[in-house]
Amino acid sequence: MGSDREIDVFPPALIDALVDSRHIVVMTGSGTSAESGIPTFRDAQTGLWAKYRPEDLATPEAFARNPQLVSDWYEWRRQLVSKTDPNPGHTAIAALTKLVKQLTLITQNVDGLHQRAGNDDVIEFHGNIMLSRCTDGHPATGIQGDTESPPRCEQCGAMIRPAVVWFGESIPAAVLQRALAAVETCDVFFAIGTSAQVQPAAGLALLAKQNGATLIEINPAETPLTDDCDYILKGPSGAILPKLVSALKQTSDHA
Ligand SMILES: [Zn+2]
Repeated sequence: MGSDREIDVFPPALIDALVDSRHIVVMTGSGTSAESGIPTFRDAQTGLWAKYRPEDLATPEAFARNPQLVSDWYEWRRQLVSKTDPNPGHTAIAALTKLVKQLTLITQNVDGLHQRAGNDDVIEFHGNIMLSRCTDGHPATGIQGDTESPPRCEQCGAMIRPAVVWFGESIPAAVLQRALAAVETCDVFFAIGTSAQVQPAAGLALLAKQNGATLIEINPAETPLTDDCDYILKGPSGAILPKLVSALKQTSDHA
């Protein structure tokens, strides 16, 4: 690949922006998970599930109509996720977090791979597929027995659902507020592996830019955001981020 050589040498001004940064926001999307072998939403449907469209399963209406079907689908997806591991891109973000003054990580992914890579505090825009919650509002609740699908809340007997944001649902206000607060104070914003087509996630990058932040995109493909970026690092995050972190380390060591 002709572009491999360019990736090794980052623009000095980019490294300076990272060294001088007071607050970096990193937003990751499905590309980051795909590099761990987690298929993107649309490619995920195989075997028994191939006949269903994800859009017809990941909705409150689908759960109301057929809770067992939706519950079983999520269990299947959890098993897919549990067989994967964080990739070098996830690990590099965890390393970057320790290297800079402040870093806020926002992800559109629901697989918890950032936490497994060492980022304890992640703003999960769309929830976490490994977590569940009571449909009647009990946030952290036990599950009655362990064989029923869907499981039932230990406290009230209501159905337990995955703690994710479904189509037609809003991002929880507290999550959105935390993300906005971070974006408003950041001076560097990374958009990594996100197609930048889902709102309001895509809008965060432009908001950061409006507030004067340096906008950096890491993606193998162009996105609607590409033209607005100050730096475009074309390629998979697992290839680019470890090199960027090591370039930053070398600069910091010599400072
Ligand atoms: Zn309950």
